[in-house]
Amino acid sequence: MVHKLIIIGSGPAGYTAAIYAGRANLKPLMIDGGVGQGQEMLGAGGQLMITTDVENYPGFEDGIQGPELMQAMRAQALRFHTEIVEDMVTKVDLSQRPFKVWVGDTLYESRALIIATGASAKWLGLPEERPVWEGGLGGAGISACATCDGFFFRGKPIAVVGGGDTAMEEAIYLTNHASKVTVIHRRDTLRASKIMQERAFKNPKIEFIWDSVIERIHDPAQKRVSGVTLHNLKTDERSELPVEGVFIAIGHKPNTDLFVGQLELDANGYIQTTHDVRTSRYAVFAAGDVQDHEYRQAVTAAGSGCMAAIQAERLLEAEGDTDILETPTEW
Ligand code: NAP
Repeated sequence: MVHKLIIIGSGPAGYTAAIYAGRANLKPLMIDGGVGQGQEMLGAGGQLMITTDVENYPGFEDGIQGPELMQAMRAQALRFHTEIVEDMVTKVDLSQRPFKVWVGDTLYESRALIIATGASAKWLGLPEERPVWEGGLGGAGISACATCDGFFFRGKPIAVVGGGDTAMEEAIYLTNHASKVTVIHRRDTLRASKIMQERAFKNPKIEFIWDSVIERIHDPAQKRVSGVTLHNLKTDERSELPVEGVFIAIGHKPNTDLFVGQLELDANGYIQTTHDVRTSRYAVFAAGDVQDHEYRQAVTAAGSGCMAAIQAERLLEAEGDTDILETPTEW
């Protein structure tokens, strides 16, 4: 059986695409990235599953918990007859239509494809970064998104880890909320562009700690961040810094390993798109953080999922039921 549309990924982009495609009678098949046999972590719902309060998604005056929002989107996608495979895609072949998508040994085929596999924040690898319900402080004072969580640190001292443009941007943004922002960088020079460096250096609320890494974040037992233990890599000294939030800004990795060599990716590995959501391959769309390193918001991801579904619907509608699946190089 060849599906009309397969959606890979189940963050806001994937679910929104499924809702639109479902309402357009495309009977989408979603492969949600959830835990599959032999796989370890990850799960359906994407990055919002490791967030707590979401206060900037329109429609929720008092905010909503990230996992609750994703559960509601999933229920809405199911209501419009999305079929969901709770597993991870292991291989794709986009060289010709119908496109081939494997989950282990099981092959699924489709006339059109929406990729919404998202991006993953890079983490330091400290045990405290685990979600709060696993005994860590992730989502309870440790965050990788200043726009999402900065608001919760009004008037509090916080730390930002990293020396690139993202770290400078997050640090500058966070000065709108925090009483003081300390940037912790592992070297003594920043990787960030000159202009961002200058902005950060001249901001009176930002201080820098050089040549240092975070060794521990306190205090999971209290379920809140109270400070960090720093290790100066040059002097080998340890010191304590009292902060109430830690923002990890050491980059994101788009989840595009499956598509290397099959779609055009930019220098950082994000899927390149034209017309908002069209990839380099006809009838393959990309939506959400997998193609957006600029906004990275739930609402923008949802918006691009909507665009991808509408464009897919128009393409399939124009094609009709024909078995001849064209793949023009320009579209
Ligand atoms: P990035 O440029 O790769 O910088 C990552 C930073 O994190 C580096 O300073 C790196 O240290 C540090 N780092 C990496 N792993 C670490 C670890 N395990 N522990 C401690 N520190 C670690 O990433 P990015 O800042 O996210 O930027 C990605 C791309 O997007 C860049 O091309 C950037 O210019 C662009 N961007 C642009 C803007 C803007 O123009 N407004 C905003 C955001 C991003 P080292 O320096 O020692 O390697």
